Amino acid sequence: MIIFTSLSVCLDYYNLSYKNILNKIYKDLSYRINMAKSKNINQIMKILTKHFDYKKRTTLNRMRSKPHAFKILISCLLSLRARDENTEKVSKKLFAVADTPEKISKLPLKKLEKIIFSSGHYRKKAKTLKSVSNDLIKRFNSKIPNNKQELLSIKGVGPKTANIVLAFAFGKAVLPIDTHCHRIPNRIGWIKTKTPEKTETQLEKILPKKYWSEFNGIFVLFGKTICQPISPWCSRCPIKKYCKKIGVKKSR
Ligand code: SF4
Repeated sequence: MIIFTSLSVCLDYYNLSYKNILNKIYKDLSYRINMAKSKNINQIMKILTKHFDYKKRTTLNRMRSKPHAFKILISCLLSLRARDENTEKVSKKLFAVADTPEKISKLPLKKLEKIIFSSGHYRKKAKTLKSVSNDLIKRFNSKIPNNKQELLSIKGVGPKTANIVLAFAFGKAVLPIDTHCHRIPNRIGWIKTKTPEKTETQLEKILPKKYWSEFNGIFVLFGKTICQPISPWCSRCPIKKYCKKIGVKKSR
């Protein structure tokens, strides 16, 4: 009752009517349902969910079972342009020595570089880990912010990393878009976008929310094993009958 009364006051204040709001909700919902139908989104997601046991198979997805925001942020930064096996190995090695912003901040740079050496681009990553840790200490009292704006204000944290932290550490409904999550929906014909940022906004409009939390894990595995960047394995693909193969010049 209290909720409805407050809602009415709000609506009156902003001069909105229930009818307008309901119309908007109805339009958004119908748009999503129609898009999902015309692009076979439900069929594709059901097949891929069965095919890829993403919860166990990627380091960052496994970390969701015991969410630790700082560790998820650091592992995500280590995972950039690195193999998944390495991310897990290097993260464990690092967290055994330093698992807080203060500890990473105090680690000598050379020692940090040595610990994360096998994750690739180790010099750049060591500097990023240091500056992110220092920023967290100075501006956020060593706590990881739980909103995108503040996460993006930390130098070295981009939209994909911010969304990984929001989704995996705080359980928020967001779509972390990496290279696989950007490439595959374009190939299938769900969207037509040039950048991961545009992909995120387009997918937000057409992908039913029930798939958001699994989307990244599934598409990363799918992109690494079957729908690979240069020559995808279309002959082995479980969703080939639904795919428009847009931009695919060579396949196996
Ligand atoms: S059919 Fe080929 S291009 Fe399409 S999703 Fe499958 S692997 Fe990718």
